[in-house]
Amino acid sequence: MITLGAREHHRFEAAGKPFVYLVPSAAIFALDDAADAILRTLSERPRTREELVAELSARHDHAELDDTISELARVRAIGEFVAPERDSAPPPKIFPLAPIESIPPFPLTTMVLNVTNQCNLSCTYCYEYSEDKIVDTENGKQPKFMSEETARQSVEFMLKESGDNKVAHITFFGGETLLNFPVLQKTIAYARQRGAEVGKEVDFSLTTNGTLLKPEIIEFLAENRVGVTISIDGPREVQDKFRVFHNGTGSYDVVAPKIRELLTRHRSRPIGARVTLTSGPLDIKRIYRHLTEEIGFWEVGFAPVTTSPGRGHAISEQGYDDMLGQFRDLAHEFLEYSVENRHHGFSNVKETLEEIHKGMSKAFPCGAGLGLMGVATDGDVALCHRFAGSDAHKLGTVAGGIDRSVQFAFLEKHHIANKTDCSTCWARPLCSGGCYHEAHTRYGETSRPNLHYCDWIRGWTDVCLQIYGELSERNPGFLAQFDEPTAAERVS
Ligand code: SF4
Ligand code: SF4
Repeated sequence: MITLGAREHHRFEAAGKPFVYLVPSAAIFALDDAADAILRTLSERPRTREELVAELSARHDHAELDDTISELARVRAIGEFVAPERDSAPPPKIFPLAPIESIPPFPLTTMVLNVTNQCNLSCTYCYEYSEDKIVDTENGKQPKFMSEETARQSVEFMLKESGDNKVAHITFFGGETLLNFPVLQKTIAYARQRGAEVGKEVDFSLTTNGTLLKPEIIEFLAENRVGVTISIDGPREVQDKFRVFHNGTGSYDVVAPKIRELLTRHRSRPIGARVTLTSGPLDIKRIYRHLTEEIGFWEVGFAPVTTSPGRGHAISEQGYDDMLGQFRDLAHEFLEYSVENRHHGFSNVKETLEEIHKGMSKAFPCGAGLGLMGVATDGDVALCHRFAGSDAHKLGTVAGGIDRSVQFAFLEKHHIANKTDCSTCWARPLCSGGCYHEAHTRYGETSRPNLHYCDWIRGWTDVCLQIYGELSERNPGFLAQFDEPTAAERVS
């Protein structure tokens, strides 16, 4: 007689109904009463089909229970229960032991070009210059600015490594990116021309602190349809707490008028703000309102600061709880706007909804070292922009290509199957252990899962699942926008 058990899942409620997120398939289903009762009962402990039907027959008829059990088995929400062996074998190796040369390379989707490692601000929390930095940009071997020649080699590298992809994404980064505007300008012209020659479209974006924006630069960015993300923390008192010039003065009064001008004149692409959240009282809604309604950004993304736990600006456990509560409020506001097909710019929720809709089940937390790579000013290629220039995280060079053996060793070591702490976590299809840079800063090791923020990740994923469930009931058409394939890898 077969014993049935519930497969790994996360139950949540939305629009007054129960839903289930199935961990092995990352699929979501709305549950009717019978399905909910079966899943709940089997989650307590496994039972035979006969026991299950007998137990639930007071509230549901036999035929309904039979059909629902079959349906739940079909979608693999339940299945034959197999007791785990006591001394189970170690997990299998993830990658085949075939020679590396025989494994086709992964196409590069996004190349992040660190055109300079210098910055005209001195943000106290910055991962690049603070005590947590990985690379010494002042006295290290890298030049402070990328040369035109290295940028051209990087373009060739990108076009080659993007394989059969029709579109190649280049993101300019720093330091303060616009400190090397001349090279950026020339690189865009060169990449356009070379892209056309090899039959690829090249898409450009950049991240800047906004201090160096001026009419000619804005004109150029608008004309060339360069996507712009501005790093800004919010209204004056929030921005000036950490985002200061080298002499300690705040940057708000310098950047606010420049950003307003950018938003007025650069209309060819939506412009977003990226906010770093730190310790202290957080008023996320106020930051959001200021940046969207008072400044005029199309969207705003928030990211907790990456830092070692001892620093004054590190977010405490209580701070993460507080942040979750405020994210939840803003996500519900996003929901109400989206139900009415009105735009809401809280990009964190939109990004997670997209991943949920696509049924993403990540073997790796992000594209670093896979579809995304960072290039340092000297042309060294690293996992991502945050590791650019670090010898310990180098994958190759733009001139010499990627060392596949190093890349595969990295991917094998960092696969979710090797993160045993995550093996029983229902949020792993979306989290997959979290950012390597965060792990490196926190634990000194990229392969460690970021266990310090699991409650936050699970709480936020649960909120997004609820929003997804609500939208699927109240305005399913809204979710159709996520049917398109994801364009570039996200750069955070
Ligand atoms: S890091 Fe934490 S939240 Fe993320 S998958 Fe691992 S256990 Fe889950
Ligand atoms: S999530 Fe972390 S490791 Fe991945 S690309 Fe972003 S900064 Fe790099």
